[in-house]
Amino acid sequence: LPCYLNGHLGRLGDARVPVMDRGFLFGDGVYEAIPVYGRRLFRVDDHLDRLGRSLKALRIEDPYEREAWLDLFRSLVAHLPEVEDQAIYLQVTRGVAPRGHAMPRDLEPTVLVYTQPMQALTPEQRHQGLSCVTARDFRWQRGDIKSISLLGNVLARQVAVDQGADETLLIRDGYLTEGSSSNVWIVRDGALLTPPPGEALLEGVRVRLLQELCEELGVACNLRPIAETELPTADEILLTSASKEVAPVTRLDREPVGHGALRGKPGPVYAKLHEAYQRAKRLQSL
Ligand code: PLP
Repeated sequence: LPCYLNGHLGRLGDARVPVMDRGFLFGDGVYEAIPVYGRRLFRVDDHLDRLGRSLKALRIEDPYEREAWLDLFRSLVAHLPEVEDQAIYLQVTRGVAPRGHAMPRDLEPTVLVYTQPMQALTPEQRHQGLSCVTARDFRWQRGDIKSISLLGNVLARQVAVDQGADETLLIRDGYLTEGSSSNVWIVRDGALLTPPPGEALLEGVRVRLLQELCEELGVACNLRPIAETELPTADEILLTSASKEVAPVTRLDREPVGHGALRGKPGPVYAKLHEAYQRAKRLQSL
């Protein structure tokens, strides 16, 4: 499968970036991961809007107009098998320069785009739900920037892996921020809740999407701070991300999530949103 690097299509395994690239030396760059269903891009405008915001925060000029990005994606996607779900990975770094913290002017950004099979949930994971652990959010304060500097997220994910769990839910000053690579939602009293986007967390493309789906379904949806103490008593806990779509969380810190007959099982709000998400994939992929 091809990969695009600075204007050239080639094989991913052959692509090379100079060691003085600021992405390598400083993690000075941003990225996106865009779902592709049957060669069609899902919510690509939202991803390109967020890429623009991330680049602006780093004061890197967007290297392409929107149509040029879309042409580039289409040329890569044309090589894909029709049936497989894929993801476009794209990253832009500030470029190659002698090492120094200050931002050099007028660099040529390094642009890498390739496709890979989507790391979707397995049918068993959908059926049984995911297990999560909580941990202190010790990452930097600008989670809204989709930075390739992901060491904090890598360390956070490993907290879950070390305990045989799937994802780590991050807590800052007593409040939920997000997962190591996902947004987190809870259901309480019939309403779906997630923390409001701000500098502490990434505004997932699926945050707006789930609000739209809730509107269609007549499910109440509120963006408000979620205290750590609300997690163990939530009716349901869900994760969203490009690869997980909407995922049910059925164990939190080894305890089953939910109440009564549904304790430890994926709940009804998850089931409705999962179904609505599959419909949105068919209707909104271009
Ligand atoms: N939060 C973090 C830290 C992420 O890495 C991601 C990406 O998957 C998300 C949230 C969810 O964002 P999206 O729905 O755009 O995939």
